[in-house]
Amino acid sequence: MPRVPGGASLIERYAAYLPVTDRTPRLSLGEGNTPLVRAPTLERELGIGEVWLKVEGQNPTGSFKDRGMVVAVAKAVEDGARVVLCASTGNTAASAAAYAARAGISCTVVLPAGQVAAGKLAQALAHGAQVIAVRGPFDAALAVVRELAGQGEATLVNSVNPHRVEGQKTAAFEVCESLGDAPDALFIPVGNAGNITAYWKGFNEAVRGGLARTRPRMYGYQAAGAAPLVSGKPVSAPETVATAIRVGNPASWQGAVAARDESGGAIDSVTDEEILDAYGFVARCEGIFCEPASAASIAGLRKRARSGGLREVRRVVCVLTGNGMKDPDRARLLAGPIPEVEATADAVRRSFR
Ligand SMILES: *Cc1c(COP(=O)(O)O)cnc(C)c1O
Repeated sequence: MPRVPGGASLIERYAAYLPVTDRTPRLSLGEGNTPLVRAPTLERELGIGEVWLKVEGQNPTGSFKDRGMVVAVAKAVEDGARVVLCASTGNTAASAAAYAARAGISCTVVLPAGQVAAGKLAQALAHGAQVIAVRGPFDAALAVVRELAGQGEATLVNSVNPHRVEGQKTAAFEVCESLGDAPDALFIPVGNAGNITAYWKGFNEAVRGGLARTRPRMYGYQAAGAAPLVSGKPVSAPETVATAIRVGNPASWQGAVAARDESGGAIDSVTDEEILDAYGFVARCEGIFCEPASAASIAGLRKRARSGGLREVRRVVCVLTGNGMKDPDRARLLAGPIPEVEATADAVRRSFR
C-alpha cells in the first residue's frame, strides 16, 4: 500500500485510496495518525490476550469526525462551494466549523436544541459557524439540512456525503498498519452508522491493498434508549446520556447491517449505566478520558466478553471516538462535590480520602 509517511496530512498520506485529484486542496489540521494504546487493566479484567484502544479523541477537534470532514470540505472547495451545512449531535458541527474556517468558507450547523455537550457547542461558535438549534432530535435536524442541501443552498457534509466515509475509513488502515494485520474483533459505538460503515470499507480495502490478511468481526454498540439497529425499527424519541449516539433512524442503516453480516459480527445495545461505568473505568484505570458515547465500545466489549461471546478472540480494538473534555459536565456530575477547606496543610490532610 503506497503511503507517504510521517507528519503529512491525511489527504496526502492516503491520496491513493481517497477520491482526491491534483486540484483537491491539501487541507489539513493534522488529523489522523492517532495513537493505538494497549489496555492492560481491561485485558486482565476480561481475560483477553490483547485489547487496544484507538484514541480518536486526539484528532484536531477531538473526534474521529475530522478524518471524514477534511476530505468532505476539501472536495467541497474543489467543487467551488462557499458554504458547508450539517446537522449534528455536536462533533460533526465542531469539525465542520474548524475545517470551514481553515478553508476560508462559511459553515452552518443545525443542532437538536438542548442536546449538545458544552465543549462541542463552544467549538462550533468559536470557529465562527452559524449555529441554529431546532426543537426535535438529531434525526429531525438531519431531515431539515437534507432538504436545504437538496435545494442547492449549501454542500451537505453529514456522513451521507460519501467523502466523509472515504476519509473515515483511513482509521482502519492505521489500525492494520499498527498491528501488522486487522484485529480479530473491532468494537465501535454506533449512532448515525457512518463510522462502522467506513471502518468496514477500510478493512476490506486494507486486504485488497496488502496491508492486512484478515478482516475483523465488527461489533457495533448503540445506547439502549436509541437502538434502532437492534430492534429493527426507527426510534422516534431516542434517549441516552451518550448524546453523540442519540440517533433514532441512522442514515447509514444498510452500511451497518452489511458490516455486521459480512463480518460475522453483531450490533447490540448497552444501557446508560453500562456506558457510564465503562466511561469511568477507562479514565481511572487506563488513563484515557473519552466522552460517554465513546465508552459504548468498552461497555460492549465487557458485555460480550462476560457473556462468553469472545472465547476464540485473541486481539481486539475498541474505537474511542471522542475526547472526554467535550462533555465536562458529565465528569463533574459523576465525581460529586469537591471539598473546599482552609489553605492549611492540616485542613487539606483532614480531607484526604
Ligand atoms: C459521531 C459520533 C459517534 C457515532 O458515529 P456514527 O458515524 O454517527 O455512527 C460516536 N461517538 C462520537 C464521539 C461521535 O462524535
